[in-house]
Amino acid sequence: MSDRYGNWGRTPPPPDGRRAVEAPLGDAFPGLRSPAGLLPRGNGRSYGDTCLNDAGVLVDMRGRDRIVSFDPQDGVIEAEAGVLLHEITERVAPHGWFLPVTPGTQFVTLGGALANDVHGKNHHRRGTFGRWVESFTLLRSDLGALTCSRTQNADFFAATIGGLGLTGIVTRVRLRLLAVPSLTIRETTYRLSCLDDYFARATEADDRHEYAVAWIDQLAKGPRFGRGHLICGDHAGSGDRTGRARRPLLSVPFTPPVSPLRGLALKAFNEVTFRKLRAEEATRDVAFDGFFYPLDRVEDWNRLYGPQGLHQHQSVVPEAMGRQAVRALMECASAHGQGSFLTVLKRFGDLPSPGLLSFPRRGYTLTLDFPNRGAPTLALMDELDRIAIEAGGAVNPYKDARMAPGVFDASFPRWRMLEAMSDPAIRSDFWTRTALRLDAGTRRLGAAA
Ligand SMILES: Cc1cc2nc3c(=O)[nH]c(=O)nc-3n(C[C@H](O)[C@H](O)[C@H](O)COP(=O)(O)OP(=O)(O)OC[C@H]3O[C@@H](n4cnc5c(N)ncnc54)[C@H](O)[C@@H]3O)c2cc1C
Repeated sequence: MSDRYGNWGRTPPPPDGRRAVEAPLGDAFPGLRSPAGLLPRGNGRSYGDTCLNDAGVLVDMRGRDRIVSFDPQDGVIEAEAGVLLHEITERVAPHGWFLPVTPGTQFVTLGGALANDVHGKNHHRRGTFGRWVESFTLLRSDLGALTCSRTQNADFFAATIGGLGLTGIVTRVRLRLLAVPSLTIRETTYRLSCLDDYFARATEADDRHEYAVAWIDQLAKGPRFGRGHLICGDHAGSGDRTGRARRPLLSVPFTPPVSPLRGLALKAFNEVTFRKLRAEEATRDVAFDGFFYPLDRVEDWNRLYGPQGLHQHQSVVPEAMGRQAVRALMECASAHGQGSFLTVLKRFGDLPSPGLLSFPRRGYTLTLDFPNRGAPTLALMDELDRIAIEAGGAVNPYKDARMAPGVFDASFPRWRMLEAMSDPAIRSDFWTRTALRLDAGTRRLGAAA
């Protein structure tokens, strides 16, 4: 069943229909109210339920997709929140500019990137998306339209960046861009023989390259445990300045009844991927879309996870705990007999995020994707949460559809400040499932005392 307003992980299963209204055209909050609240909606590329409000109404922002202005001298663009990142790239690349921070898909709206304060392969150099936001317009059901920047309504500025869409509807954003000589990427790939090899090279790779991320073969065992590739990149001195991505190589037209991403097929895929790099180190020029957005090359790839969808687990652990915590997370997935199709490891730098609730913080971030097999997958995810939290880390909310309220509390101790600034007419399934339950628990304890 197609679910225009689903999430990317396709968990939980969609109800009969998700209700949505078009975004307001002017600067007035939508007149429609729902007892279960409204939620601004980007392009649904969040894996979990931060972009869902199944009992309420979604405000579809995709129609608000106008580029308002672009200054090719200064590299500042102002656009409506429903503009997709690839539309920005196409507009600015011919003038020598690029997105300063880009996630692993270009089919994300400006509003969604801001509300989740997304990160990219250059976090160690550029920090999060929010660091590049100069200002935005926020529509509130109680306060009307507010201009927010570091100097104007600064508290709403901080709460909205990484604020999971809860503080109001962002209608317009002014974003500072990154000057680049071209979009072609000079990619250098290093072969990693084991996990320790990654930790031995990660810091130096960050020092040397604009972009760095590791793909890990999560199924390799024994001395090869944690083998993979460290993939680094820099903008080539000359090359592509169109910013136009190629069409997808293929598309997945329907959801197979059983996910092919398991067992022997998964093992074979990892083996082939690992062996693709024959030399210890290789450098070549590659197209920007293949470097930044390899998954976009297969349209609707999430269907390959079968009718039950997928769970993605992304955690970050402090740098000092990185080696042992990342090993423990990967060993845990192996012990549960569940292979992650795509395992990505990255070092976050120490540039602070401007958002009150932003996920990135200094340390190592590990991302694992699992086909949803119900209870066994949920048990594994709980265990991964425990390891990350005990290491002093955090679990990413916008990849999540199941974390316990206590895990959210431990990951984001400042969440009550966001709750205090949230718009009274807005709610998400994620927030109801985590923060509001914690809130209800606190009230019950207060009443009992
Ligand atoms: C293949 C793939 C790769 C990815 N790689 C990365 C990565 O490398 N780094 C990373 O950080 N993320 C990554 N993501 C996650 C994705 O970038 C984020 O979830 C992103 O925020 C989704 O944006 P969206 O426009 O689809 O918003 P949605 O998913 O629809 O919504 C996201 C949140 O933004 C809020 N929101 C949307 N529009 C507005 C608005 N106008 N005003 C206020 N709130 C709004 C929503 O309420 C919701 O809380 C990846 C996702 C995929 C599918």
